[in-house]
Amino acid sequence: MSDIIEKVKCLIIGSGPAGYTAAIYAARANMSPVLYQGTQPGGQLTTTNEVENFPGYPNGVTGPEMMIELQKQAERFDTDIRNGWITKVDFSEDIHKVWVNDEKEIHADTIIISTGASAKYLGLESEQKYLKLGGGVSACAVCDGFFYRNQEVVIVGAGDSACEEAHYLSKLCTKVTMLVRRDEFRASKIMAKRVVNTENIDILFNTETEEVLGDGQVVTGVRVFNNNTNEKQDIPITGFFTAIGHKPNTDVFKDYLDLDETGYIINVPGTSKTNVDGVFVSGDAADHVYRQAVTAAGTGCMAALDAERYLAAKEG
Ligand code: NDP
Repeated sequence: MSDIIEKVKCLIIGSGPAGYTAAIYAARANMSPVLYQGTQPGGQLTTTNEVENFPGYPNGVTGPEMMIELQKQAERFDTDIRNGWITKVDFSEDIHKVWVNDEKEIHADTIIISTGASAKYLGLESEQKYLKLGGGVSACAVCDGFFYRNQEVVIVGAGDSACEEAHYLSKLCTKVTMLVRRDEFRASKIMAKRVVNTENIDILFNTETEEVLGDGQVVTGVRVFNNNTNEKQDIPITGFFTAIGHKPNTDVFKDYLDLDETGYIINVPGTSKTNVDGVFVSGDAADHVYRQAVTAAGTGCMAALDAERYLAAKEG
């Protein structure tokens, strides 16, 4: 561990729309924010293709492009943006302690958590095996779909993400089979309609995955079963995608912050405040309801304003 402890006024953890918006506001309020990007600079939006619902982009924008613009905007006001992963925190005292990559120690007057959420997998042994081998399992169609062009794939899930990703895959792949565990979609009507109307998307309702099949190196199929009839079938595919929701990235804070049963940080309603003074939360790390780029940006703004007011009150 390094002996030199860095002191900062405002430390922002995470680089999605929440983190960058917090940085823009904190920087413009002279809080000299330091922002750690985490392992996925730009956050979840870097895995999204077309964003059509963020106000101000009448023709849409790709997720990665939008994140580059947000980063540039934060840098324009001198946000100190760094690579690094927060591995440990200690919020037991007035000065909040944070360790970066198990090495560098930072003491921060205020902290804004914008760590977002990560994609979930089914957890089947066969799924994890081929995921680790890089042999045909993915939770990000936009990142990996290209590798399966002109091939047949399966996608698990029935929410907006699953529909969006199935539609994306349908443009690259010859056939996409959607596995929906209930007899209906969770997705909004417009998204569900889009997949139903796409010719090369086949939807199997009441269908769950028993096993991802492979040759020991790569995926060659999937064994599914109908949870009404118990009837099984093997579907030959080369790509197995999951789009079944997300887990908030909050494990590192669990000893100090109040979390709900899923791990979302509990904030004081109507604010970005957590149960620890001087520690604020924004974006998907605390939001299991809206989970949109624009709401994440909005709560990033709230967190910076709350942090600024906290510092002003402290400095008297
Ligand atoms: P959701 O939580 O909305 O949906 C998850 C889906 O995965 C559900 O259909 C669920 O099934 C299914 N699922 C969960 N676990 C399993 C499992 N073990 N086996 C099989 N299926 C499983 O997550 P999304 O990521 O789709 O969406 C998150 C939020 O983001 C939502 O609010 C959504 O509206 C929003 N969003 C908006 C978009 C847009 O507007 N462009 C695009 C993408 C997301 P079940 O229904 O049975 O619970």
